[in-house]
Amino acid sequence: MSMEMTVQPAPTVRSAEAPAGDRRFRGQGKQLLWQRPEQVSVIVLPLVVDRDRERRRLEKLFAAMHSIKRALQRDARRRLGAYWVSPRRMQQDAAEWREQLGLTREGLERRAYRHLERSGWLLDHVSKALAMHQADEVWAGVERHLFGDREGRRSGMPRVGSYWDFLRIAGRARSHTTEHKWETFRLFGTLAGHLAAYRHPQLPKEIISPAQSASLAPGNHVLAQPRHQRAPDPVGSWWDHIGPLVLVFSGGPTSKAGELVLPVRLPQGAGRWPYLLHYLDRPEQWHKVDLVRRRNASAPGGWAYEAHLMILGDGYFSPATRARRQAAADLQRVGGVDGNVSNPGVPAKPASRGGLAVVSFPGSYSPADGDVASTRVSLTEEEKARLTQKHRKDRARQRALHRSRRASNPQQYHLSRRQQRRAERRAAAGLQVRQLVVRSGGRMVDARGRPGQPFRDDVLSKGYRRRRGRHAEAAASFQEARTHRARCAAAAIVVVHGPRLTIEEGNVSAWFQRWGRSCLAFTPGRLIKALDEECTASGGSLVRVGTSATALAQRCLCGARVPKTLGQRTHACPACGLTGDRDLVSAALAAFTTLDDPGKPSFARVDDDLSRRAQRAFGQRLQAAVAESPGSPRNPEISWGGSTVLRPLGATAARKRPRARRRCASARRNAGPCLVPTPAGSTVSPPGSHGRNPDSQNGQNFWDSA
Ligand SMILES: [Zn+2]
Repeated sequence: MSMEMTVQPAPTVRSAEAPAGDRRFRGQGKQLLWQRPEQVSVIVLPLVVDRDRERRRLEKLFAAMHSIKRALQRDARRRLGAYWVSPRRMQQDAAEWREQLGLTREGLERRAYRHLERSGWLLDHVSKALAMHQADEVWAGVERHLFGDREGRRSGMPRVGSYWDFLRIAGRARSHTTEHKWETFRLFGTLAGHLAAYRHPQLPKEIISPAQSASLAPGNHVLAQPRHQRAPDPVGSWWDHIGPLVLVFSGGPTSKAGELVLPVRLPQGAGRWPYLLHYLDRPEQWHKVDLVRRRNASAPGGWAYEAHLMILGDGYFSPATRARRQAAADLQRVGGVDGNVSNPGVPAKPASRGGLAVVSFPGSYSPADGDVASTRVSLTEEEKARLTQKHRKDRARQRALHRSRRASNPQQYHLSRRQQRRAERRAAAGLQVRQLVVRSGGRMVDARGRPGQPFRDDVLSKGYRRRRGRHAEAAASFQEARTHRARCAAAAIVVVHGPRLTIEEGNVSAWFQRWGRSCLAFTPGRLIKALDEECTASGGSLVRVGTSATALAQRCLCGARVPKTLGQRTHACPACGLTGDRDLVSAALAAFTTLDDPGKPSFARVDDDLSRRAQRAFGQRLQAAVAESPGSPRNPEISWGGSTVLRPLGATAARKRPRARRRCASARRNAGPCLVPTPAGSTVSPPGSHGRNPDSQNGQNFWDSA
């Protein structure tokens, strides 16, 4: 079987290569290729994996896919090693050299097929399309290493990932030009069929369609899905199935186990139905399904499984969100943002805590059209206490893991000095040697200081594995909650200041190096990313400007240079007398930066004329806005993560519910993003994000080439 493919980077029309030898190639395509729209969005559908048989198949599928990924990553690393050590070839004919080494998308795909066919067992679990997608994913990492991203930043050598971090299997996209053509993971059934099969007994008789359910007030029950949901039997072909929603995977080509059929569980209340209706009621918009697993210590096997369905078009936005964004877009304001991290060397004044400072002006910079506004976003005391508690819990878990590892592998550890002395005392007293001791000394090492036995060969108890799973689960849910909070804070900023903001391009990783833990608490990168998304979604943008050319922290709105060290938190200009908080002043200055070339943040400059005029026009009001004490009506403080303002919706309600044994089970809420790099529910993909690599349309174009 020939696996040769010609994939040309031309985005619209695929040209044919001249036929070489007896190999046959396809002729020139006559039609324009189908193009995926710019906007796509994803809904997370929890899957019901009740029976051991299905669970074991899924575990084997993930294990098989991970072994393919690992083999490809090792291949790629070896080849990249060979590539970089030959500077002569790289100068003369780099492209040909890469081709020879197989460092191309097709080269990696060929390797994937080779691994698949030679292994003998992989084909029982994995289809060729899945292996191909895996190769494409590995290639994406290799490409970033070889050529860099849009800004030219190259990433390091691709790393071989661990089994525990392997969470997502990318499925193949459905063909939108040929009917009934959808490989790997397919979603069948309809929302109406789901409603008909699992109606709640209290649902009024006159409600029969999903659209009617969506019009019910939140708090009404719509569905009552049983705890053990049976997979429906298809009547004829799956394509004719109109019953409850179900995920179908055919298995590997040599598999004898038949189709893997997993029922989908939907949220049951009426409040989520507008959302479900948006994603699931138009099957022609369904594009592709990725299979994702998530740590869940209480699920059998330790994993919960989800189908991430990508649809063509925008995500769901509630009427309230749309109204909020429209109002923000109508504000006609321009603003600047400045991020900082609390400096542990300086006594903690309220103003020197880590946070973001935002200052905005009316778009015309004229006091007649509005006032100057400033906001600080900082961690509340409550959130700090919560973080401290979390760190303490993490440490306790970590110590329990260490203890368990030492108890299971006593021969790998020394006794501590104290344990040693005690053993000597007992021996001197003629007592027996104590056997049951968790040795708390150092690890046994060889002459070169390396562990005598690699850590991966240690014996790990069941309790260890369970605890580690719980630890990973807690960490993932913590991250999800933080991202949600960042989005809430970003929304609160854009409501006040509008979506046209400018930020000084700071190097967040440098902050982390300098400030470590306190930066970890505030996670400025996460908030800035959320702000970027919110601005884009509200019709504006967060413009990044370079630091070196503008040096916003070192100057004043009047144009004078006001040098400050990092520890100096106040700005006091000797030329014009403006005094205020350092971050608020540089945020105000950021509102006056202009980019000569929009693509290049390093060519930013501050419009001194404009800033001087605005300073004169706003006078005392500007002085009050950048004043050091936050919390005044003009200078409100948004607390990030306080329980009163920005707790994730529904989190408290869920905890307070009595733990009665319920006979039906709802789906997990999916308010936050997925744990994997698929765009989340209501995320808007930034314009041009698919533009760099027009050939990778999530496998859609392979229908035309394979
Ligand atoms: Zn000044």
